[in-house]
Amino acid sequence: MTTKSAAAAARATVYGYPRQGRHRELKKAVEGYWKGRVTADALRATAAGLRRANWRQLAEAGIHEVPTGDFSYYDHVLDTTVMVGAIPARHRAAVAADPLDGYFAMARGTQDAAPLEMTKWFDTNYHYLVPELSPDTVFSADSAKQVAELTQALALGLAARPVLVGPVTYLLLAKPAPGAPAGFEPLTLLDRLLPVYAEVLADLRAAGATWVQLDEPALVQDRSPAELNAVARAYRDLSALTDRPRLLVASYFGRLGEALPVLAKAPVEGLALDFTEAAAANLDDLAAVGGLPGKRLVAGVVDGRNIWVNDLEKSLSTLGTLLGLADRVDVSASSSLLHVPLDTAMERDIEPQILRWLAFARQKTHEIVTLAKGLARGTHTIAAELAANRADLASRAGSPITRDPAVRSRAAAVTEADARRSPAYPERAAAQRAHLGLPLLPTTTIGSFPQTDELRTARAALRGGRLDTAGYERRVEAEIQQVISFQEKAGLDVLVHGEAERDDMVQYFAERLTGCLTTRHGWVQSYGTRCVRPPILAGDISRAEPMTVRWTTYAQSLTDRPVKGMLTGPVTMLAWSFVRDDQPRGDTARQVALALRDEVTDLEATGTSVIQVDEPALRETLPLRAADRAAYLSWATDAFRLTTSGVRPDTQIHTHMCYAEFGDIVRAIDELDADVISLEAARSHMQVAHELAAHGYAREAGPGVYDIHSPRVPSAGETARLLRTGLRAVPAERLWVNPDCGLKTRGWPETRASLENLVAAARTVREEISRS
Ligand code: GLN
Ligand code: ZN
Repeated sequence: MTTKSAAAAARATVYGYPRQGRHRELKKAVEGYWKGRVTADALRATAAGLRRANWRQLAEAGIHEVPTGDFSYYDHVLDTTVMVGAIPARHRAAVAADPLDGYFAMARGTQDAAPLEMTKWFDTNYHYLVPELSPDTVFSADSAKQVAELTQALALGLAARPVLVGPVTYLLLAKPAPGAPAGFEPLTLLDRLLPVYAEVLADLRAAGATWVQLDEPALVQDRSPAELNAVARAYRDLSALTDRPRLLVASYFGRLGEALPVLAKAPVEGLALDFTEAAAANLDDLAAVGGLPGKRLVAGVVDGRNIWVNDLEKSLSTLGTLLGLADRVDVSASSSLLHVPLDTAMERDIEPQILRWLAFARQKTHEIVTLAKGLARGTHTIAAELAANRADLASRAGSPITRDPAVRSRAAAVTEADARRSPAYPERAAAQRAHLGLPLLPTTTIGSFPQTDELRTARAALRGGRLDTAGYERRVEAEIQQVISFQEKAGLDVLVHGEAERDDMVQYFAERLTGCLTTRHGWVQSYGTRCVRPPILAGDISRAEPMTVRWTTYAQSLTDRPVKGMLTGPVTMLAWSFVRDDQPRGDTARQVALALRDEVTDLEATGTSVIQVDEPALRETLPLRAADRAAYLSWATDAFRLTTSGVRPDTQIHTHMCYAEFGDIVRAIDELDADVISLEAARSHMQVAHELAAHGYAREAGPGVYDIHSPRVPSAGETARLLRTGLRAVPAERLWVNPDCGLKTRGWPETRASLENLVAAARTVREEISRS
């Protein structure tokens, strides 16, 4: 095929679309079903309506092939588990009794059966349910959901392409089921799984599918030769089937690297690749393997996971290059649009001019269609769109929001010394000991206390205009009084104000920082029915005025004990936001760090001696490829240190991280140079404390002794036992006593009892130490 006919054939497509609906109808229907207020039929009807509305919208916009099967009541990996019949033994009876209830039982657990574990979908903020497999797993095909959704789309007269999680990625995302022999690798089940995929493909073919997409994002991670062999085998076998649809293997979230030649050689009919900035290497790699002669290439040139308007001319130039490398080139987003909000048109509070810099799912669809049209019929056919796009890009680039000279010169003047605390830790620790006068095994909490009904009501009333700011602030002060008085009575040593003023630990700061935008309707699915509205770090970031000082100083005015100031760190601010794409992430992190550094300075100046900077997301945004990790950890730790290094030696800096595999980042944790770190540890029986110790971690640490993910109240005896385990890893002079994480999601009664037990346990163990 010539380049010219490859261009003429160019079409627009997407891999997936936001599932929740304009007003989160799906969330409401599913939660209503759980509460017994919505019938199963009504839930199904809502779901079918949402799918129909999405497809119509896509088709009307000019998307040629709509995706099917990307819809989910909860999670598409869980849907795949159902499709291949890998129901864990403990849920089989529930699934047999009622497939829908059994499905939700796997997602959420029941009285007697734990849910599947949940974890992050690659480096996004979407969470999937982890398949549990063992050598005994018997797969069996259940194509009902895939076939029904395809049939629904075809009946609307649409060209449709089912999208499935590919077999290799499915196995690589799985973990050994409880009881599986040590060292069991789910990928060894590939030969058993492929016949099930073959059956599903045959069913889809029979139902009218001409193409089926198999998603293999796991191939953008480092893969061993054995894993790459498995890929080659899987696609050789699936391609060898006689009665099958054409196969499109899709990868996204980065460059394919050594998996690219393997897929290029596979006898499938099409490949979909990421061609955004982060995966630019795919272009050269594709040329290096001689392109994809005879294959369809779907080019992900529109960023599927960030919200900035596309540079259409740049994309057209990429597409132009690709035309010479494949038989047919189609245009798409780099990944499913599941990861971005639905429609910028719903945002009334963002200035119209600024709104034009943003593209949510609906706007991205238009970009894709425009690019496909330009490619197929010539750029003169999209001249108006290109001119408007040029104007929007110029407006963004030239805006004072994008470039604030004061922020830039300050960031440029940062020296290495600004990001280094002096004196070194041992001397600081002595100064802090003298200044704070804390007992051995000091007790504290991680920051938030239960959010009460009164507080939620007040917040809703404030939003609805039924309560003024002064009234709301009085409510927050009342909460702080309650939190301080409880902590004093319970006998905690380092108190917190409880974070009543914060709805969300990132949103709160984003709303107050110059250069950040927040949305009203920009919901993105995080897991199941939980949706979040990530802020947008849009421009140069600075702090106009103190953000937390008033609440911390108010709390401190109520007590003689030290109250810990509480901030969200720069790495976490980036991780849970949409970040500008016109400069390296490290530059944005540095600006956020400088803004937060001002807050740290102000807290110290107003009498705060202990300041905690939370970085629960440090491990989360670790790059997918090992080769990219050092650079990330370097800017990330720099940003943390820049935030925290402007204080006196006797001011104590804490940090906090939630559960993660710390092995990969233990060195980076050390390089944060925080005086105290609190970590989640209760469920793993202090294992992280041992990991830190094994690394030679020499500062103070508080491995959590109270599991806050459960309403269960741990007894004082149990807490003391965990503390004694902790003492085997961290010596008493450096061990803190605290819960695993914030208490925001807990109720007051269990919080009260658990913290009283925690203080009692600390006292018991202190006595044991003084007697020995
Ligand atoms: N300070 C925060 C809180 O207690 C920390 C939350 C987190 O680590 N996710 O809520
Ligand atoms: Zn936490």
